[in-house]
Formats: sequence, C-alpha cells, structure tokens
Amino acid sequence: MEKKYDAIIIGAGIIGCCTAFELSKMGYKTLNIDKEATAGVGSTGNSCGNVRFYYSTRDGVALAYESAWYWHNWREYLEVDDERGIAEFHNTGSVFIKSKALNWPKIKKHFDEVGVKYEDWDLATLKSKLPYADFHSFYPPKRPDDPAFYEEPTEFLEGACFTPESGYVGDPALSTQNVEAAAKAKGADFLYNKRVIGIRQQDNKVLGITLEDNTQIDAAIVVNVSGPHSFQVTEMAGQLDNNLIKTKALRHEVHVVAPPKGFSPLDEGYHTNDTDIGAYFRPEAGNMILTGSADPACDPKEFVDPDNFDRQVTPAQWKSQVYRLARRIPELPIPNNPAGIVDLYDVSDDWLPIYDKSDLDGYYQAIGTSGNQYKNAPVVGAMMAELIKKVENGYDHDAQPMEYTLPHLGLTVATATFHRKREINPNSSFSVVG
Ligand SMILES: Cc1cc2nc3c(=O)[nH]c(=O)nc-3n(C[C@H](O)[C@H](O)[C@H](O)COP(=O)(O)OP(=O)(O)OC[C@H]3O[C@@H](n4cnc5c(N)ncnc54)[C@H](O)[C@@H]3O)c2cc1C
Repeated sequence: MEKKYDAIIIGAGIIGCCTAFELSKMGYKTLNIDKEATAGVGSTGNSCGNVRFYYSTRDGVALAYESAWYWHNWREYLEVDDERGIAEFHNTGSVFIKSKALNWPKIKKHFDEVGVKYEDWDLATLKSKLPYADFHSFYPPKRPDDPAFYEEPTEFLEGACFTPESGYVGDPALSTQNVEAAAKAKGADFLYNKRVIGIRQQDNKVLGITLEDNTQIDAAIVVNVSGPHSFQVTEMAGQLDNNLIKTKALRHEVHVVAPPKGFSPLDEGYHTNDTDIGAYFRPEAGNMILTGSADPACDPKEFVDPDNFDRQVTPAQWKSQVYRLARRIPELPIPNNPAGIVDLYDVSDDWLPIYDKSDLDGYYQAIGTSGNQYKNAPVVGAMMAELIKKVENGYDHDAQPMEYTLPHLGLTVATATFHRKREINPNSSFSVVG
C-alpha cells in the first residue's frame, strides 16, 4: 500500500464511517478497514435503527436529541447523493410507556434541561393513541414459563411520554453506505475483506496495523470502532487492563410478527418502548411489527464469541418476546414460524459507551455502544474527530476531559461520561435504554 494515511479506522459500521467523514472534513487522510465486504453489514446492518431520546444520563439525552437534526436532514448532512439510494427516516414519533422499570421523573428532568420536545400523556390520551392495546400493568416483565405470566393484572399504566421528533431508519446498512459515499467524496479510503490482527506500537506510540495477510499499514492514529469485536481490538492494542470499563459481545434477538387485523403499523404505528413488558416495538417493512427485548431481569444474558455464535432465532426467546408483546396487544396473531434476526450488542459494564483516547498515544476508541448508539453515530463521529484533533494537538484529555459543544443544540456534553476510566455509572439503566 503506497498511500500515506493520517488515521486508520478499524471498522466500517455507522460509527466508523461517521468518524471517517468528520476526520476527512478536517483534512485528515483516513482509511477504514473492515473484514466484511462492504460498509454497514456488521452489527449496524441488523440494528433496529430506532431514533429516540430517553437515556438515563443528561449527556446521553443530549447526544440523542442532537442526533435528531441529522436524521431529519440526512441528505443535507451527507452533502452528496448516493446511487444506492438515500436512507429514509420514518418520523413516527416515539411512545415511552411510563413504568416501574424506568425513572420517568429523572428522564423528564433531563428532557427539560436539554429542551427535548415531548407530550406528557395520561392514561386516557394513551388509550386514544394506541386503541389496539391493553393498558394493564404487567410489571415486572416475565417469561411465559413463569406461572405468574398468566395472572390477570389489576393495576393500570399511568400513561406515557411522547416525543414527536423520534422514529426509525428502516435500512441502517444503506444509511452507513451513504456516509461511506460522503466520506469518500471528502477523500476517505475504504479497504474491505481485510481483518486487522495487530496494532503495532513503539515507545507507547501507535505505528499502524497489521492485516491477517501480514500486510502492514502505517498511521500515527488508529481508532477502534470495531463494534462487538471491540474487546479483541482493545487486546491487540494492549489496553485491556488500562480500560477500567470493559466491553463484551451480547447476543440479541429481534422478532417480526404480523399486526392484529385492522391495524396498519406503517400508517398508524409508533416506535414504542414498553419497559412494563420489557420490550420495544415499531412498524416494520411489509406492514409488520418488529419487537425486541428491553433487557428485563427475566431475560438471560448470553455473552458470546463474536466470531462464533448462533444466528438462528431461538424458540424460547421468540416465545418470551412475542408473548410479552401479546399481553400488550391482545389481538396479536401468534405465528407458527418464528421470524427475526440475531446479532450482537457491544455491551460495556454500565451500558454507556466509551468515546475516548487511550493510554497508548495515537490509539482512540469508540466502543461499548451497548445496543443504543446507532442513532448517535453522526454526532459521535463529529465528537470523536474533535477529540482526536485536540489530543493530537497536545490537549490533556485525561487531566480535563473535553467538553463537546453540540453544533445544533448549542449545549455542551461532558465527555467524562464516556471516559474509559470512569466508575461504573450508577445512574445507568443497565439495559439497552442506556
Ligand atoms: C439487533 C440490534 C438492534 C439495535 N437497535 C438499535 C436501535 O434501534 N437504535 C440504536 O440507536 N442502536 C441500536 N443498536 C445498536 C447499534 O446498532 C450499534 O450501537 C451501532 O450500529 C454500532 O456501530 P459501530 O460502527 O460501532 O459497529 P458495527 O456496525 O458493528 O461495525 C464494526 C465493524 O468492525 C468490523 N471489524 C470488527 N473487527 C474487525 C477487525 N479485527 N478487522 C477489521 N474489521 C473488523 C466489523 O466487521 C464491523 O463491520 C442495535 C444493535 C443490534 C445488534
């Protein structure tokens, strides 16, 4: 390889591509390397693409709300067209069911501080908006093999919070390819079907990477954006012990079911997060409903080898999620054949990401995205690029973690929240909610 690169980015998922785009805009010559054949077909490709704003920390809410601008103005962000098409954002709005599992007063406080637009729905309003639902509280979420699952509840839900600017991107792989095209237009390069197996260093400075075929590519900056493989790359860089927050690959199933008769999800459905039943759901192509687990305590956590895990939907998890959804939507037809996808979350110890430098000069990390950072990728790409530029110019980010100013909201985000040496954040939901 004859070209000289300023920065090598390991991974061409949505966050790797957004980081390349932003670094390229700043004049860095970047190379993304991915073991897959194209951009966005790692865990991003199976993301549900939900864009919602409730997170358990103020900085999480601020990043997510800032991200709304990008999804509402996708073509403007990209600055280019893409012959593969431009990914569509479905602005359904998001219903966030108030439940005993989530601290609504805390999230409301963050919403008010950040300025998130929302409507506070009482039970009567919720009933008028979701006419197909049963409004009993089923809390705590249970699996169908628990006899308590079938008990008839007597309590009702309190209501919900509705954020009208939320929704989902139906084709996250395409959105990633859009950013790849945008980055290429700014001079970025991409190398596919190549696996990074080593990070070379000398005197605690990054020298570059080594590929599986022993090719060496040099760059003084290497960024780990390898998704559920992040812990492997952290190990290659010799940083497992220096990162006090660890990351692991967690298997996650998402299921697709037909709606009840007379209900058209694509016309009338919202993105809904229902921690009262431990599930989220939204409309899906083909006028179906897509549903996933919100990680309630009853669902087992399956940490796996990211290169060797079961990609088949399992009857037990399918039954658990679909039956829970059927409690909320009693007319839901239960299909005979489970359908859905299986992929991995790159989960950190506290389900908050690591967006940081490292103890190795020139080595940066955007990892631990814990099933909830697709939506934030454009903001994270810009924040990572600014962090890299500052640190490379001598800023001591460890002594005083950077404050990042969100360009559209004008608010600052304390990147200390995403530091590799933070204490486990007790305010986290310790779930996909973040
Ligand atoms: C089922 C599911 C549903 C989700 N739903 C949502 C949602 O609704 N909303 C939301 O905001 N987030 C969601 N997420 C999370 C979101 O998808 C991720 O946070 C985001 O896609 C992570 O992007 P990434 O670029 O960091 O990782 P990835 O897309 O995983 O990209 C990493 C890339 O690195 C490559 N790679 C790894 N190791 C190497 C190596 N050694 N050499 C070369 N290449 C390597 C991989 O091939 C991969 O392409 C979901 C995730 C899953 C799995």
